Amino acid sequence: MRSGSRAPQEPSGIFVPARRPPGTATINRWRRANCGEVLRPGVRSALWDFVREAAPLLHPGLTAPAEPALLSGLNDGRDADVKTGMLGTDTAPLCLILRTHLGTAAGPGPHRRWRETLGRPGVRTSAAVVTGIEQVNPQEAGPLLAEPLPAQARPWLVISATVADRAGSLSVDPGDGVLRHVLDFAVLRLDRPGPLRDRPSHCPHCDQTRVRRYSAFDLCPDCGWFDQPAAAP
Ligand SMILES: [Zn+2]
Repeated sequence: MRSGSRAPQEPSGIFVPARRPPGTATINRWRRANCGEVLRPGVRSALWDFVREAAPLLHPGLTAPAEPALLSGLNDGRDADVKTGMLGTDTAPLCLILRTHLGTAAGPGPHRRWRETLGRPGVRTSAAVVTGIEQVNPQEAGPLLAEPLPAQARPWLVISATVADRAGSLSVDPGDGVLRHVLDFAVLRLDRPGPLRDRPSHCPHCDQTRVRRYSAFDLCPDCGWFDQPAAAP
């Protein structure tokens, strides 16, 4: 786990050739999959470990227990292009809301060596950004990517969140040093009353009508939009 401030984006001089976009079969397989098939146990575990480490910064006063992370797919069965889900445990006072899309292949052009941008190990209380890295088997990361992974690959998961908005992303480096941004998330607290106003009839982001009211927030299962009141001053 590393923490630090964002560094300016600078070309590194590494050139990665363009890859082919995912084929129809890959796209159809992705659409038919449910959230649990796309987000394998090793990835869920890496995300929850990140939440546990970063929780004191993202939501001061809260801690996440060392329990198995439970995943709920929110739009399973709809053959959607994005998968939305909620990751939590039986007793945790917070949860992670996620939205993942079929990982896009890296495009042409210069890329930074992401490992050079990591700060010092350890989570500092003054950190603006927290980054966690984990190496997993190709079977764990494969479903997140548009491209096939060689069996001998040892992909890296790079999970990063900004403290100010308690939101972040997960990217996969299949082994060529280039990150594929595959998932966005936010860490929400469950220990406070939800919105006072009425549940919206339509999602303000995607306009679907399935916005759900949970005890501590409203959430759209189609796109992952959520509304949680800010903490009282
Ligand atoms: Zn929506």
